[in-house]
Amino acid sequence: MAGEPQADCLFCKIVAGEVPATVVRDTETTLAFRDINPQAPTHVLVIPKAHYRDAGSLAAEAPQLAADVLRETALVAEQEKIAVTEGGPGTGFRVVFNTGTGAGQTVFHTHAHVLGGRGLNWPPG
Ligand code: 5GP
Repeated sequence: MAGEPQADCLFCKIVAGEVPATVVRDTETTLAFRDINPQAPTHVLVIPKAHYRDAGSLAAEAPQLAADVLRETALVAEQEKIAVTEGGPGTGFRVVFNTGTGAGQTVFHTHAHVLGGRGLNWPPG
C-alpha cells in the first residue's frame, strides 16, 4: 500500500534505525541525513518517512508530505549556511530529485538531494 514501509528499501531501514545515518534534521514526517558519497561540501538527502518510489508519486499521492519535504530542503540549506538569505553568507544551493534509472535514481524511496558549498554547473551531467 502507498506509504507503507518496504522490507527491501534502504531508506525505510534508515527511517527505522536499522541502518545508521548522520541525521541533520528529523521531523514527524521527514528525515534529513548526509549522503554517504557526497558530491559537494554539503550533500544532504531529505526523505519522507513514508515510502513513495519517486517525487511524482509522492506529489500525486501525498501532496502535503511533498510540501513537507520541500520545506525541509530549504531549512537544511539554512542550517548548512548555503541558503541565500538577506545579509547572509550563503551562495545558493541545488535541490535534485533524480527520477528513474535513466536520470540516475538508484534508491526508489523519494529523496531530495540538497547540494551546495561549491559552484554548481549548468547543465548538470
Ligand atoms: P539517487 O542516485 O537514487 O538519486 O540517490 C541515492 C543516494 O543515496 C546516492 O547519492 C547515494 O550516495 C546515497 N546512498 C546510498 N546508500 C546510502 C547509505 O547507506 N547511506 C547514505 N547516507 N546514503 C546512501
